[in-house]
Amino acid sequence: MDASGRDQMSDILVWAELRDGRPSGVAFELLNKATDLAPAQGGTVSAVVIGPGDCRACAAEFIAHGAGRVFVVEDPRLALYQAEAFTKILCRLIAETRPGVVLMGATSIGADLAPAVAARIGTGLTAHCTDLHMEDIDGRRQLVMVVPGWRGNLMVKIVCPEKRPVMATVRPGVLEKGNPDPSRTGEIVSIPADIGEENFRARTLESVREPEEGGLEQAAIIVSGGFGFYEAGGVSLLERLARAIGGVTAGSRPACDAGWIPETRMIGQSGRTVSPGLFISIGTSGAPHYTTGFAKAALIVAIDKNPKAPIFDIADFGIAGDLRDIVPALAEVLESER
Ligand SMILES: Cc1cc2nc3c(=O)[nH]c(=O)nc-3n(C[C@H](O)[C@H](O)[C@H](O)COP(=O)(O)OP(=O)(O)OC[C@H]3O[C@@H](n4cnc5c(N)ncnc54)[C@H](O)[C@@H]3O)c2cc1C
Repeated sequence: MDASGRDQMSDILVWAELRDGRPSGVAFELLNKATDLAPAQGGTVSAVVIGPGDCRACAAEFIAHGAGRVFVVEDPRLALYQAEAFTKILCRLIAETRPGVVLMGATSIGADLAPAVAARIGTGLTAHCTDLHMEDIDGRRQLVMVVPGWRGNLMVKIVCPEKRPVMATVRPGVLEKGNPDPSRTGEIVSIPADIGEENFRARTLESVREPEEGGLEQAAIIVSGGFGFYEAGGVSLLERLARAIGGVTAGSRPACDAGWIPETRMIGQSGRTVSPGLFISIGTSGAPHYTTGFAKAALIVAIDKNPKAPIFDIADFGIAGDLRDIVPALAEVLESER
C-alpha cells in the first residue's frame, strides 16, 4: 500500500517504444492490456516515450490507445537507442512516479533495456511473457505473468509479491492491439532528459536494417523447418519445397541456432508472429514457444516422423513420416505442375 492506502500494483507505466520515429505495435498492445488491468484496480495507465523530438504526435496516439498520461522525453542525442541514457531516464521516472507495474515490449531493445532498469532499481523482471492478468493470491491482488516454461511443455505463472514495481516484457504480437479512441483525453508531460556525456559510455552510432528475402508477415505461404532436418544435413529440401509451392522459408529456434535459417526468420515466442493462409511445419515437435508464432495461420500442415509429436495436435493436416521421403515427393509433384 502507498501513503494514501492504495495498492501500489494499480498504476501501470508502459515504455512506448518508437521504431524509426513511429510507435511500435507492441506499445499499443501493452497499452491495451494495461487499460484492461489498471482501472479494475482503481489505477492509472501512463506511457513514456523517448526520442529525438516530434514525440508529441506519438503521445496523442498513445492517449487514443488508453494512456491517461504520456511522459515525453526529447533530446536530439536519443534518435537511436542508447542503453545507458535510456536506463537512467526510465529509472528516474520510475523513482519519481512510483508505478506498481512497468511493462515493456520483448523486442531486441526491450530485452536489453528491461533487465538494466530492473537491476538498477532492484526489482524482479519476468521476460518474454505471453499473457498478464490479475489474481488474488495469498490474500493480495497480484500481477500474474505467464511464460511458457519447461521446454515449452508448461505455461508457468510468475508473481513478484514483494518488490515494486513489478516488471515484465511481453512478446510483440501476442496481445490484442485494441482500437484507438480519438475522443480519449489525457495529459502530455514533457520532462527533461537530464543526461550527460557520461551516460553515453557505449553509443549506438547507426542501425542497419537487414535485407529481407521476402516479407514473412505478408507471405501467403510459409514453409518452416525444425531440428528434424538434422538427419537431412540442412534445409535444402525445405528451400526446394518453398520454391515449388511459391512460399517463403522460416524455421524454429534450433533450425536458426544451427545456422540453416537466418535468426530474423525464426518463428515463435522469441521470433516472428505470422498469420499466412498456409503454414507448413516440417521436422518440428510443436513446442508452445514455437507454435505461438503461427497460431493464427488459416491452414496448418505438419510433417514429422513422430506420430505422437504435439505439432499434430494443432495441425489441420498431418503427415507422419520421414521428411527425407515426403518432402522430395511433394516437391516433385508441385514442380511437375508448374
Ligand atoms: C524462453 C524460451 C523461448 C523460446 N522461444 C522459441 C521460439 O521463439 N521459437 C522456437 O522455435 N523455439 C523457441 N524456444 C525453444 C522451444 O521450446 C523448442 O525447444 C523448439 O521450438 C524445438 O524446436 P524443433 O521442434 O525444431 O526441435 P525438436 O523439439 O528437437 O523437434 C524436432 C522434430 O523433428 C522430428 N524429426 C527428426 N528427424 C526427422 C525426420 N528425418 N523426418 C521427420 N521428422 C523428423 C522429431 O520427431 C521432432 O518432432 C524457446 C524456449 C524458451 C525456453
